[in-house]
Amino acid sequence: MADAVIIGAGQAGIQAALSLRAMGFDGRVRLLGDEAAAPYQRPPLSKGFLLGKVAESELLLRSAHALSGQAIEWLGQTRVRRINRPGRSVETDTQRFSYDALIIATGGRAHRPEIEGASLQGVETLRSIDDALRIRSELAPGKRLVILGGGYIGLEVAAASTQAGCKVVVVEGASRVLCRVAPPALSQFFEKEHRARGVEIELSSTISRIVGTDGKVSAVELESDRVLPADIVLLATGLIANDELAVTAGLPCNRGILVNEWAATEDPRIFAIGDVAVQYHAQTQAWVRMESVANAVWQGKMAASCVTSSPPPLPELPWFWSDQFDIKLQIAGLSHPEDEIILRGDPGDAKFCMFTARNGVLTSVSAVNSPGEFLVAKRLVAARRDLPLAALRDRSVALKQYLLD
Ligand code: FAD
Repeated sequence: MADAVIIGAGQAGIQAALSLRAMGFDGRVRLLGDEAAAPYQRPPLSKGFLLGKVAESELLLRSAHALSGQAIEWLGQTRVRRINRPGRSVETDTQRFSYDALIIATGGRAHRPEIEGASLQGVETLRSIDDALRIRSELAPGKRLVILGGGYIGLEVAAASTQAGCKVVVVEGASRVLCRVAPPALSQFFEKEHRARGVEIELSSTISRIVGTDGKVSAVELESDRVLPADIVLLATGLIANDELAVTAGLPCNRGILVNEWAATEDPRIFAIGDVAVQYHAQTQAWVRMESVANAVWQGKMAASCVTSSPPPLPELPWFWSDQFDIKLQIAGLSHPEDEIILRGDPGDAKFCMFTARNGVLTSVSAVNSPGEFLVAKRLVAARRDLPLAALRDRSVALKQYLLD
């Protein structure tokens, strides 16, 4: 019998709790989260939920009732202030919880760049249900939205708010959208698709100041001196890992909590999972902090398997998806900007796969509106074996053929 405490009741935290139970853990499982809502999924917040197509109840990963049915003690609005490693406990302002195993799943918060006017009403970030509800209440035909940051969240909100009738400008500091996360050719595809649907994109550009009237945002000024009228400004400039508890507890951190391949920190009783964890990635030989549901789920299972001494989950390629307008993007693997690109299909048809390869070995696949091919392509990338790369361009040969060879 042992006590497990999980800090953070998001995607990773709830997965760890459910997996502990599924793997036969019979001690207490306490899931401490600082939000009021029961654990919920965030991906729809920038997609269907903004458009009113997904209801709040559909976001829930488990109801409070379902959690208690599995003897998971979920405590909402419970913010952990301190980890006491020598005493093996965590502390809120009023309570203390002892642990034999501690899993930190505190995620991250939206980065807020220091820009004059960033505290005006109508300047938003998007991470939680409350953020999404505020933004959604402002979206209406004719409203002007300026988004700083052309990453996935920025582009998804651009797509949803354009569909809601807003006039949208995306301001991106780099020379292409999705600069950190996609090969250049994929960036060009998404830029073209957004522009074709009326989204204005300002590349190599940044906001110098946000201007307001009566405390409410009214415009943004770009460094080029261009002034964009705005009813809403979304700052979509990335995430800061919530690693402060671990830093204060003396655990090694570097923009996230450093963990080994088993999601363990240097303290054998403490694990870190999800957006807050920085894990060594053998393929790229780099420390990587993933922001994806798949990673949160996999690391949640991994931590639970260590706590229960159960077999670890099977290794999985990192993977991710994004929905923008009617375009479904699925990505698996990790690419490097210098990797070779192998295009299968025509981006002009908005249905294609883009592989990347290094030294003759596939490193990733990005599939656009091709869910069937994605499933096979993911297995090909994971196999890491020699393939006739140039032949992958030929769509008359089914991808699954290469699994058999
Ligand atoms: P979170 O889900 O953020 O959960 C962490 C929880 O810990 C939060 O509730 C936080 O409030 C709480 N917490 C923090 N500190 C404390 C404390 N001291 N005490 C108690 N509680 C604390 N991923 C995809 O794969 N595909 C997508 O399409 C996609 N779209 C996304 C769209 C949006 C708008 C956002 C915000 C994210 C999206 N993601 C997507 C990323 C995905 O949602 C995250 O990777 C995932 O939620 C990470 O789970 P997590 O549990 O690590 O963090």
